[in-house]
Amino acid sequence: MNPLRKRIGVLGGGQLGRMLLEESARFHVHYNILEASEDCPCYTMANQFICGSLMDATKIRELAAISDVLTYEIEHVNTEALIQLEAEGKQIIPSPRILQLIQDKGLQKEFYQKNNIPSGKFFLANNKGEWARFIPLLGSDKFVAKTRKGGYDGKGVAILNSQEILSDPTLIPFDVPCVLEEFIACEKELAVIVARDIAGNIVSFPSIEMEFDPTANLVTVLLSPARIGSVLEEKAEEIARNLVQALNGPGLFAVELFLAKDGEIYVNEVAPRPHNSGHHTIEACYTSQYEQLLRILLDLPLGHTDLVQCAGMVNLLGAEDFSGKYYLENLDKVSKLPGVYVHLYGKTESKPKRKMGHVSILAPNLEEVIEKANYINKVLQFKAEK
Ligand code: ADP
Repeated sequence: MNPLRKRIGVLGGGQLGRMLLEESARFHVHYNILEASEDCPCYTMANQFICGSLMDATKIRELAAISDVLTYEIEHVNTEALIQLEAEGKQIIPSPRILQLIQDKGLQKEFYQKNNIPSGKFFLANNKGEWARFIPLLGSDKFVAKTRKGGYDGKGVAILNSQEILSDPTLIPFDVPCVLEEFIACEKELAVIVARDIAGNIVSFPSIEMEFDPTANLVTVLLSPARIGSVLEEKAEEIARNLVQALNGPGLFAVELFLAKDGEIYVNEVAPRPHNSGHHTIEACYTSQYEQLLRILLDLPLGHTDLVQCAGMVNLLGAEDFSGKYYLENLDKVSKLPGVYVHLYGKTESKPKRKMGHVSILAPNLEEVIEKANYINKVLQFKAEK
């Protein structure tokens, strides 16, 4: 089949899907989108739009019927329906078998253990009655509890004090199956995006540093390459590639890692899709994470992942003090800066902390990237439209 004729069906119509469509526009690929509301970032860009829940097996089938390959831009979808479709021969990338593993943080941790992927110590607690048995075995003052399923963006994650919980079990925040993890004292949080094509070739993107930067006035800016030196860089990328090798199927994966204070690198978790930490790849890398996914879906060769320049990314979040229609104050000033790319996701209303867009920043060195990021964070603000 002519790869450019392959119709792609995406579960989810959010900003990650939108950037996939934007990056695919120059290939003129046909996209079908399934999303619960027409008021979503992908609506105006889709060739065909199906309005429906990502949990609705009938709607997923409708999407599959008009698509040659399916992918998803969010993990919270009806995996059973996808497993059924895959069994019937529909091409789904990444395989729902991988999605099922990733949706359950407990299965993920067991997978790392089984495949010798470095990851922190853990126990699986079925209910809160089991916590007291496991906490002492973790052997740290603090520990991290995560609901096995349904968490996102830090929801369903709690960092807890071991003694406090042992002496007062009413403080236990979750009574559903949980992963209890040792607390890893982090030097930095990192991410490595890895692509695997249908033939099994694997490439990784340069590492990304996700830490709050004290030299940058506590501004959150994602930087790439991470400031960890070439030895740790190679190690981080190798761990991420090994993980994807073990997952054993095509797709684009974002591997979140901890660089611990003791110098060891541990896997936190993996996402089977383009990732917030990889937005900068659109302008900063020879091939973006989105184009890389497109290449995988169309069975084209993987693209080159090197950075063209040092890069950074700041998220544009909705202001705390209002919800509703908005304008972006100082967009004119920021637009004058060289190497600065503003992305807006087309959301009609701003809400506190809502991801409304991001800015990618390119510069010859990371100091200049941080300087621009500080300025952008200070001046670029969502304001209520009058
Ligand atoms: P989510 O899937 O909701 O993003 P994560 O598993 O990534 O949740 O955890 C959210 C954050 O909690 C991480 O980015 C990290 O800062 C912190 N965290 C998670 N697990 C640990 C751990 N074992 N040790 C220390 N910090 C952790």
